[in-house]
Amino acid sequence: MTVLELRAVRKSYGDLEVLHGVDLRIDAGEFVAVVGPSGSGKSTLLQLAGTLDRPTAGATFVVGVDTAEMTDNELSALRAGHIGFVFQQFFLSPTQSALDNVANGLLYRGLPRRARRAAAAAALERVGLAHRGNHRPSELSGGERQRVALARAVVGRPAVLLADEPTGNLDTASGQSIIAILTELNAASATIVVITHDREIAARLPRQVEMRDGVVVSDTAWGLR
Ligand code: ADP
Ligand code: MG
Repeated sequence: MTVLELRAVRKSYGDLEVLHGVDLRIDAGEFVAVVGPSGSGKSTLLQLAGTLDRPTAGATFVVGVDTAEMTDNELSALRAGHIGFVFQQFFLSPTQSALDNVANGLLYRGLPRRARRAAAAAALERVGLAHRGNHRPSELSGGERQRVALARAVVGRPAVLLADEPTGNLDTASGQSIIAILTELNAASATIVVITHDREIAARLPRQVEMRDGVVVSDTAWGLR
């Protein structure tokens, strides 16, 4: 099953075109690294793939659904149901516990609070933070905060997890623990796309997509399907 597909996607900001026609297909169960120099369009690509932004031309499909004609509210619902996001900044609520931050990832699922908190506790356990649920973000290390953000992103079991430089603000050891957790989630069938400037991390992942100047210049899946 294809979970994300971009067809001939272009993106301009004003007069400046930053994506010049990108084709990309992500199938269920894949673990994909997106690499390339700063400014090559990686974050723009991820935002379009995740429907956080709309392409100037071309088409974006999420779980087979063409997003072109969808309203902003419909896109929000599509994202809430199918896509998890992790960013370099953790974007956690400072006034809420780790558990409640994770439970917030289920706010749009129509689940009662008890069920949200039970699922959040299970997600925190998956990232090795079962014992930290009652702590606020300020009481956690950077690596732990990112693990909370990761738990929030996957608590609803999205079809795909999109991560933009999730290790960018972390020391090497914390970054490695994030990649280890992503690897475990993928082994347990999660589909993951991760932007990284770390060549060593990228080299260990099953598929690498390389961007340069707004185009995909190589993809290890080319020729394989
Ligand atoms: P990367 O993530 O690979 O560093 P980005 O996708 O962030 O690259 O940026 C690609 C290009 O698009 C850059 O030249 C950047 O300055 C430009 N860009 C990104 N977002 C915007 C925006 N909101 N407005 C104008 N230009 C932007
Ligand atoms: Mg970026």
